[in-house]
Amino acid sequence: MVPTFIMVGFVGYNGEQYLGLCMRRLIIAGGGIGGLTAALCLAQKDFSVLVLEQAAQFSTAGAGIQLSPNCSRVLHHLGLEAGLRGKGFLPEGTQFRDWRSGRVITESVLGSAIAERYGAPYYHIHRGDLLDVLLEAARAHPHIELRVNARVEHFETVRAGSGVQVRSAGTTESSAGLIGADGIHSKVRQDLWGEQQPLFTGNVAWRMLVPAERLPAGMVRPMSTVWWGPGKHFVHYYVAGGEFVNCVCVVEKSGWQVESWTELGDVGELRVDFVGWHADIQTLIAHADPSVLYKWALFDRPPMPHWGKGNVTLLGDACHPTLPFMAQGAAMAIEDAAVLAACLGADQSVANGMQRYEGLRRKRTAGIQQGSRRNAKVFHLSGIPAWLRNRGAARARRGTMDGLFRYDPLSVVQSD
Ligand SMILES: Cc1cc2nc3c(=O)[nH]c(=O)nc-3n(C[C@H](O)[C@H](O)[C@H](O)COP(=O)(O)OP(=O)(O)OC[C@H]3O[C@@H](n4cnc5c(N)ncnc54)[C@H](O)[C@@H]3O)c2cc1C
Repeated sequence: MVPTFIMVGFVGYNGEQYLGLCMRRLIIAGGGIGGLTAALCLAQKDFSVLVLEQAAQFSTAGAGIQLSPNCSRVLHHLGLEAGLRGKGFLPEGTQFRDWRSGRVITESVLGSAIAERYGAPYYHIHRGDLLDVLLEAARAHPHIELRVNARVEHFETVRAGSGVQVRSAGTTESSAGLIGADGIHSKVRQDLWGEQQPLFTGNVAWRMLVPAERLPAGMVRPMSTVWWGPGKHFVHYYVAGGEFVNCVCVVEKSGWQVESWTELGDVGELRVDFVGWHADIQTLIAHADPSVLYKWALFDRPPMPHWGKGNVTLLGDACHPTLPFMAQGAAMAIEDAAVLAACLGADQSVANGMQRYEGLRRKRTAGIQQGSRRNAKVFHLSGIPAWLRNRGAARARRGTMDGLFRYDPLSVVQSD
């Protein structure tokens, strides 16, 4: 199949610039973590990329995110290490604790040990900071165009499947392919496969930031800490170089299903949700900044049997929305971006490249979706099942995370 070539800017004339004139152009719907990472990975493979973002600006509401080595190696490969180190936080380890007594059930080392073992570090970072790092790189790249107020409304495959026309905010753009990185409510996904509402998982998450200076010295260790309790769990870790403690508090609840990054929560309700929990949890809640206390219902979808068709594919939450109980949703979007770019870079046919990408990614992302669902149950056990879980966790061997963290999206195409 002959790919669609487009002419991009012409400045002077020499051999190198001539190559630049013949770049394949791709459109990405959605400028979140997945869409921006995909733009950078594709530009690195000499594609010209247009990112269409529906919002008035590229932004992401509060809260932190954990970046494990399987995705941080991609970000480093994009040249973003300095930005991540400058804005992120390198945790010393992971710790699981009992909700009431605070007893440490199990802990493992992260820090420099994980970077040595897997070749890339584990970061904690504020989402806004991560987006800034990605945006700065994308804005500086001559082959990436970023457009806001540009909701993708419609697309059509043209020229016997060799190109796609995308309509957005009154304009129509042509490209060799379209990538729907437009999140859990993906319009691209809906147009490909029809309307299918995401499923409420029965869990509501609170997110809050606590200024570290308000907390007793040493109370929060420099670790990713997960407190397990019946029907609930509480996660906290440092972000913004240690200035804030980011908390995600998940509670099984029915009857309230608002899914929004910006729905403010009521601290009184949060306090009631965690009555009886350890004193450290009470201290964290007491010092939360109410102006950045958010509450939202957690949704997901079952793994999809197919993602794309022809020259249109999906990426990130658009095709595999994942509960946060393995801290891997964004990591999967970042892995997708690297694998998609490698597949498209290796194949003259966009449709073939997209098909290969899907074939390489569906099993892994489905496994993470299912594992995250499983953790939703495991984290919230009570009674004897909780006791058995704690015993098993305490005995888990070093290397349990190898399958997850060793995955290298940058070389998966060569070893395919
Ligand atoms: C509480 C919580 C904690 C989490 N913690 C972690 C973690 O620690 N580690 C981790 O890896 N993951 C984590 N995740 C998951 C992670 O947040 C998501 O998987 C990730 O943000 C998905 O990125 P995305 O780019 O695919 O989608 P999104 O972030 O949803 O971005 C989609 C973008 O597309 C835009 N858009 C939508 N429709 C259109 C359209 N029609 N046209 C143009 N633009 C459009 C949106 O405005 C948005 O900017 C967590 C999730 C939750 C809920």
